[in-house]
Amino acid sequence: MDFLRRARGERFRPVEQQALEQLPDDVWHKCLGCRELLYEKDFEANLHVCPRCGHHHRLTVSQRIESLADPGTFAETDHELRSLDPLGFTIRDRRYLDRLREAEESAGVPEAVVSGTASLDGRPISLAVMVMEYLGGAVGSVAGEKITRTVERACDEQRALIIVSQSGGMRMHEGLFSLMQMAKSSAALARLERAHLPYISIIADQTYGGATASWVALGDIIIAEPGARVGFSGPRVLQAIKIRLPEETQKAEFMLQHGMVDLIIPRPQLRATVSALLRHLTSHCSARKAAPAPKRRRITVRSTEARE
Ligand SMILES: [Zn+2]
Repeated sequence: MDFLRRARGERFRPVEQQALEQLPDDVWHKCLGCRELLYEKDFEANLHVCPRCGHHHRLTVSQRIESLADPGTFAETDHELRSLDPLGFTIRDRRYLDRLREAEESAGVPEAVVSGTASLDGRPISLAVMVMEYLGGAVGSVAGEKITRTVERACDEQRALIIVSQSGGMRMHEGLFSLMQMAKSSAALARLERAHLPYISIIADQTYGGATASWVALGDIIIAEPGARVGFSGPRVLQAIKIRLPEETQKAEFMLQHGMVDLIIPRPQLRATVSALLRHLTSHCSARKAAPAPKRRRITVRSTEARE
C-alpha cells in the first residue's frame, strides 16, 4: 500500500513543486514576514527587503557597508582590538573569554562593532556598523571604544559620521566597564558637535538599552528602518520586571510619532536619503564654521549665592 501511495503521490505531484524541489537551496528565500518564497537574486537586489510585504530582513555587516558606502572605499579600522575579561566573569560554567571566542567564530567578526572610513557619493564618512550576531550586539569596552574612535576619527579627519545601530544593550559580562562606554561615546559626540560635523544615526531592527540611551539618540538626524524594534528596556528586561507594554510602543513608527525618531526610510531608499542629508548638512555645517564664533556670555555668580 505504501508503494501504491508513493507511486500515486509522485504521479500527481504538481510540476511546479517537482521543479522547486530540484532547485538548489540558495535560489529561494522564505520571507519571515509573509512566508512567501522570494527569488534570491531579486531579494538580494532589493537589499533583503520583501517586495511583497516590505519586511526588512537582517543584513550581514558587509552587506550593510556595501549598501551605504561607495564601492571599494571602505577601509576597516581598529580590527585588532579584543575584549579582555576584567571581572573574571563566568556564567553557567562558561567563561566570558570562551563566549567571546565562540561569538567570533559564529559571527565571523571579532567584535560587536565593525568600524572604518569610506566615502558616500564622494563625501568622506566615518562609519560604524553594529553586529547583532556577535553576542546579540551587546556593547562591551571594545565595542564602545570602536564607536568612540569612529566619532573621534570623524572629528580629526573632518568626516561626516554614520553609525548603524542594532544592539541588545550593554554587555553585563563587563559590568561598569560596559556602562561607562555610554558616557565616553557621548562625550566624543559632544566634541563632534562642537566641530560642526554632521552625525546620522541609523536604527536597524532591535536596538535597545545603553546604545539607545547614548549614541543612537544623539544623532543630528535619527533614521529608522520600517518596523524596527527600538526602545530602552528590551522585551526580556520588561518580562523580568513584570511590566507589560503594548507591542507597538517599541516600534520605530511609535517613536516617530513621539519625536524620538526623525525619519523612517525603507532600506532601498536609505543610501540616497543619507547622501541628500549629508549634502545639506555639510554645506550648512561649513557655513556655520565660516561664521565667526558667537561670543561667550560672561556669567558672574557671587560665591555666597553659589554656595546657597
Ligand atoms: Zn514578505
